[in-house]
Amino acid sequence: MKIIESPEDMQRFSRGVRRAGKRLGFVPTMGALHAGHLSLVKMARAQAECVAASIFVNPLQFGPNEDFGTYPRAFERDCRLLEAEKVDVLFAPKVEAMYPPGAKTVVEVEELSERLDGRSRPGHFKGVTTVVSKLLNIVQPDLVFFGQKDAAQVANIRRMARDLNLDVQIVVGSIVREADGLAMSSRNAYLDPQQRKQALALHRALMRVQFLIDRGERNPHVLVEAGKQVIAEEKGARLDYLEIVDSDTLEPVEDIAHGALVAVAAWVGTTRLIDNLLIGGGPS
Ligand code: AMP
Repeated sequence: MKIIESPEDMQRFSRGVRRAGKRLGFVPTMGALHAGHLSLVKMARAQAECVAASIFVNPLQFGPNEDFGTYPRAFERDCRLLEAEKVDVLFAPKVEAMYPPGAKTVVEVEELSERLDGRSRPGHFKGVTTVVSKLLNIVQPDLVFFGQKDAAQVANIRRMARDLNLDVQIVVGSIVREADGLAMSSRNAYLDPQQRKQALALHRALMRVQFLIDRGERNPHVLVEAGKQVIAEEKGARLDYLEIVDSDTLEPVEDIAHGALVAVAAWVGTTRLIDNLLIGGGPS
């Protein structure tokens, strides 16, 4: 696996891939890789002749009191995992290469960026869409792979791609979970054994909503309250939001007949966790 640090070298590599007539699939990550990330790499490997991944802990998407400094970093291990998945090239830039002094341009999807996680993490999605647009300009892939785990991120990126006419196919992979249902996340590493159990409340809340839907409940307000109740019963968890929204606009829906996104975020100790469930088809 080739490791590239400079954006210019990455662009040059990408030009070579295109000239050779190969399709380039790209999986952007912040590293500390787990099976969720690797499922996206496997999808890329199956759909493209050349696979690129990136590892970049993007300071722009972290708030001033968030965990940028302590975010888990495991570069050597990540390289071994990506190599085992036959990734062709890893783009791993330094912060200064991505944000040289004087960088002033940002990309933001107005309004959408303030919904769900955007409400409690102001500026987060602006940081995400800015770095993703930069990464797409640098790697220039034919296909780019994101996880359904970050459903609001997917909505922001899809809208950005549409609004800016980005010439890339966005592919979304299903949520990969631990055996007990906890959605895999690099931040799960922050949890102590007791918190690890408490963290299951998010999945339990979603399962409760799914159970009620299966029983015929269609009122989103009833479903939201039932899900929130499950979080409230777990003393170690503090709810940020539990909403049933349209998966594109992230606005609350009054009717779940045509599908919807049930999204939850909660703090367990100081760790903020998210999870979601797509109802009415699609990856979940
Ligand atoms: P991150 O390193 O957290 O920025 O994640 C990189 C990519 O992996 C994003 O597209 C995430 O949505 C995706 N991802 C993270 N966790 C999971 C998971 N449990 N299942 C599927 N995809 C995931």
